[in-house]
Amino acid sequence: VTSLRRGTCPGIQEPFPTGDGWLARWTPHRSIPLEAFAGLCDVSERLGNGVLEVTQRGSIQIRGLPERCDLTAEMHALGLPVQEFPAFISAPLIGVEGGDSAFAPQTRNKLLACLAEFSGATKLDRKLSVLLDDESALHLDHVRADLRFRCSDQRVHLALGGDAVTATSLGWLLIDGVTPVLMRLLGLLSVSGATRGRDLISDLRAVQIELAPWLSPGAPPASRPLPERIGLHALTDGSVVRGLGLAFGFSAAANLRQLSHEAARLGAHSLRPAPDRTIQIVGLPEKADPTLLATAAVLNFITLPADPRRYVIACAGAPVCSSACLATRALAPRIAEAAQHLLSTGTPIHLSGCSKGCALPRAAPLTFAGPDALILDGAADAPPARRASVEELITQLRELDQSRAVRAGAEANPYRALLRSRSLQSAQMER
Ligand code: SF4
Repeated sequence: VTSLRRGTCPGIQEPFPTGDGWLARWTPHRSIPLEAFAGLCDVSERLGNGVLEVTQRGSIQIRGLPERCDLTAEMHALGLPVQEFPAFISAPLIGVEGGDSAFAPQTRNKLLACLAEFSGATKLDRKLSVLLDDESALHLDHVRADLRFRCSDQRVHLALGGDAVTATSLGWLLIDGVTPVLMRLLGLLSVSGATRGRDLISDLRAVQIELAPWLSPGAPPASRPLPERIGLHALTDGSVVRGLGLAFGFSAAANLRQLSHEAARLGAHSLRPAPDRTIQIVGLPEKADPTLLATAAVLNFITLPADPRRYVIACAGAPVCSSACLATRALAPRIAEAAQHLLSTGTPIHLSGCSKGCALPRAAPLTFAGPDALILDGAADAPPARRASVEELITQLRELDQSRAVRAGAEANPYRALLRSRSLQSAQMER
């Protein structure tokens, strides 16, 4: 990633240069018709490297693009709208699930219309994010954003900065207040020197006065447990949403196209990428689920929540990214195999090609950052607890994984036992 681009985000209209060409990221605001999604897979093969990625926050990435390619025109030809700045993240089942099913889409449309007006505002921070959540099963409580709107019981709760637990609650709005409130927040962000949600929190009184005509006091809605995104969720029309994971966050476009063709053949109508590097197949007849699952497993998708591959979080790494000094994607299946029992209990390992930590910008129980930094309970830029070669790491993880004491949950972070590993220590001393 060049220094010129640091601090911004790649989009469809403004891709970034990486090690193997240009990278474009797209965050859909609605579920994607399966035929259009298959077309997007074609675009990845025709213009990019033939791989599609789904990020932790549920965006789609295409890599290996030439510097000059008009992806926006490609998207429009597929009937896929591109509106990408300020970034808008919405709960995947808005508009497809029951409950507040009309209210949340209306709120979404108001927010998007308002964001479109500000899309050219150069003073807005390029990383600014606006999030819309609702009461549907695949909620976004754990996803962080600058401005958080949550539809609940025909009202909208507003909070600033953080996730559902850490954000600062401002109160409740009626739907008529959504547009003026977002306009004023974006106005404050573009003129006040504040650039992100957390900056507004530092002058909360001024924000509250500005929004007072629309805000009502009230406790924020209760935060919810992390939803299981690899599973089945019933829709009010009797069909289901089937969630599948992308192993290590990416898939061959050909496999995704084959999966979407199969989903369409079985009666589903659309697909939505979702957080935790998942895709949600929408509108599937429940009786067709076993057939779709069988196809998905053959095509290398994650079909079971406890699949160890789900808990290896890897960035693109070498040779895809020019900053990388670790081949993270080649390493990821080896790590998933070596630490399969530990991983399947949901204790993640983060593989980062360098200290930037694109795939997980926060602490993990174990982070291995290229070329040799082994970090415990830290992010990719934290000081390493040890240095280890790839082969040492795999050997020690395998030993640890087979240790019954660790598997029984003897330590809060089972990977801490790597520090006591005799063979790793002796390898250190030989250096
Ligand atoms: S974390 Fe990975 S993708 Fe990000 S800059 Fe480093 S090597 Fe590249």
